[in-house]
Amino acid sequence: MPLLVVGSVALDSVETPQASRDDVLGGSAVYFSYAASYFTSVRLVGVVGEDWPNEHTQLLQSRSIDTQGLQIVHGKKTFRWRGKYMTNMNDRETLEVHLNVFGEFNPVVPEELRKCRYVFLANGLPTVQLQVLEQMHSPQLVMADTMDLWIVEHRDELMKVLGKIGGLVLNDSEAKLLTDEENLVKAGRLVQKMGPRFVVIKKGEHGAMFFSEHETYVLPAFPTERVVDPTGAGDSFAGGMMGYIAQQDRFDPKTLKEAMAYGVLVASFNVEDFSLDRMQQVERADLDRRMVEYKQMLSF
Ligand code: AMP
Repeated sequence: MPLLVVGSVALDSVETPQASRDDVLGGSAVYFSYAASYFTSVRLVGVVGEDWPNEHTQLLQSRSIDTQGLQIVHGKKTFRWRGKYMTNMNDRETLEVHLNVFGEFNPVVPEELRKCRYVFLANGLPTVQLQVLEQMHSPQLVMADTMDLWIVEHRDELMKVLGKIGGLVLNDSEAKLLTDEENLVKAGRLVQKMGPRFVVIKKGEHGAMFFSEHETYVLPAFPTERVVDPTGAGDSFAGGMMGYIAQQDRFDPKTLKEAMAYGVLVASFNVEDFSLDRMQQVERADLDRRMVEYKQMLSF
């Protein structure tokens, strides 16, 4: 089943203790789309400026990502984000954000994409996420991401989003902030009570936790020594997870657990290089090989 994603399309500049890159392909909807494209066809809705290199669009199209919903605004610049990772490669600081065209992002979902049954609302203003939902014709599963800024400054709108979605992915510090609860198990359960059928708390190098009414479990990250750039790990996790769900066209407990495992594995490849560089070398067969290792690692 096709999967629709709406979110940021960016030119990122990333500094790590070892190396740095300027103006590379990034954005939450880009990482998500590429990761999901291992499993299903993806429709991307986003906005860029006239400085957007056409080769990035071609790269996405080469993965059968439909870019008809990627709007190019002339006379404006693409969203730019600059981040710096600390020596532990987990904590990061945002050094610069230039919203540019993304600041006035007013997503219009092309008519033929409104029938998509699987929808991902990548990190963005909750009002914009709600605006997308209003345009969709009764999707089967909507998942969303969020961040600290929206939790603090747009809480009411975020609560409305939570009441309308099936799944929420967020990281551990965001779950604590949203619930004012330090214990992650309690926090996950509280977030689930705010509306979504299931909640996934991402814990970076420590994997991810799943919460639904009936189940709570943790999946570890796939251990990789090569952590070059963690940017997009959360988005590629969500893309792998939801791509698999859309491919299977179901989201029963067993499928959700398999989907989460694929999310973990796509993210583990993504962090092995800057931007989408590592994912460009990876095929579905590589994911499946890593899945065999991952399952062996988890069986005892
Ligand atoms: P992640 O590492 O999974 O949190 O995702 C990082 C990506 O999110 C980068 O490619 C950024 O371009 C993008 N990003 C950073 N800040 C924002 C924001 N405020 N809204 C939307 N996307 C963002």
